[in-house]
Amino acid sequence: MIAIAGATLLDGSGGPPKPNAVVVVRDDRIEEVAWGSGARFPKDAVLIDAPGMTLMPGLIDCHDHLAHFGHDLATRWGINEPQSLRGARVYSVLKQTLETGFTTVRDAAGLDAGFREAVDSGLMPGPRLQVALNFITPTGGQADRTSPSGHSPSLVPQPDLPLGIADGPSAMRAKVREMVRAGADVIKTAVTGWGRPTRGLGPKDLIMTRAELDALVDEAHVMGRKVMCHVLGGPGLRMAVEAGVDSIEHGSYLNEDPDLLPMMARKGIWLIPTFSVFVHHAARGTPHESARAKDFREHHVSSLKLALKAGVKVAAGSDAGAWVHGNNAHELSCLVESGMTPLDAITAATGDAAQCLGMADAGTIAPGKKADLILARGNPLQDVTILERGRAVEFVMKDGRVFLDRRGAKPSP
Ligand SMILES: [Zn+2]
Repeated sequence: MIAIAGATLLDGSGGPPKPNAVVVVRDDRIEEVAWGSGARFPKDAVLIDAPGMTLMPGLIDCHDHLAHFGHDLATRWGINEPQSLRGARVYSVLKQTLETGFTTVRDAAGLDAGFREAVDSGLMPGPRLQVALNFITPTGGQADRTSPSGHSPSLVPQPDLPLGIADGPSAMRAKVREMVRAGADVIKTAVTGWGRPTRGLGPKDLIMTRAELDALVDEAHVMGRKVMCHVLGGPGLRMAVEAGVDSIEHGSYLNEDPDLLPMMARKGIWLIPTFSVFVHHAARGTPHESARAKDFREHHVSSLKLALKAGVKVAAGSDAGAWVHGNNAHELSCLVESGMTPLDAITAATGDAAQCLGMADAGTIAPGKKADLILARGNPLQDVTILERGRAVEFVMKDGRVFLDRRGAKPSP
């Protein structure tokens, strides 16, 4: 039994901070939560004394790409290095992500289910994983990785990451089943392009029919999987909301169709804006990507503000894996910059994120919940950026197991 005592508690529910908290952990679960001057802990508990620190649920990133390492063709196709070396890179990213305070990550394409099994069985350290394996889209969409010269990565098959191309409703159903067979926890699709200069793949270009999306959503739901849907703007937004996907990923131009927001709120469709990735596009993308990202920044921020006003639930997802690993908390800073309070941004990455992922027993600190806990030095409600790159994170527990404890250690120069 472990007792963490003396920290200020942010329990992930969105409630106010509670000073001088005591949280008792037995095995993999939280057993007791108390705070204030009368809070006591059992005498036989191993004490973790944490004055001056903030105790929070482990952070959750609802949209990342943990196995992406670059944008050039050879890297994207996975032909520039042995698979074992690629696997070792992923191992190091998973460890780093956990040690920066993220105890759960939903991978939105690129990571195979073996990593989830390896983490769950204790073979390697890492956040708890939900994996999508690959996008499912028609020919020419994000799932189609054919090169500009017409060469196809199907020449280098990766059976644990099925190719996601499907045309027509019945092929969509078969593809969902294939992803589930290969271990997908969630189904990832895209109904618009994003920032490619390629004709037909712009942020408002529709790349799928309603009948195809209906079939995909229905089949995923029959198989108990949520649908995360990449969509930026234009008619695809209405199609995704009407078809009943579970989350709108990006949603940058929602402000141009504000009548969709009350519909999203009513249907319980989440918005995962992923501001973080567009900061990278603006700073480091191709000239076209950079211009595009700067172009829709205003729409994106206004979309978030209108969504919050309409009562749409918002969850944190960085989508930054393709650019940088280990700074998933950058998204919290982005959410605050875009108008959320630090408390709401933290809730979007804890209690609300767990709801978005369908994890009823994670994301908040309450008796019976998973013991996913972090301690941060200082007060992220005053400055949420202290969480970036895990700078302030000195202690990480997942499922009751301690993965990082550098309390009192001198920060590295
Ligand atoms: Zn993504």
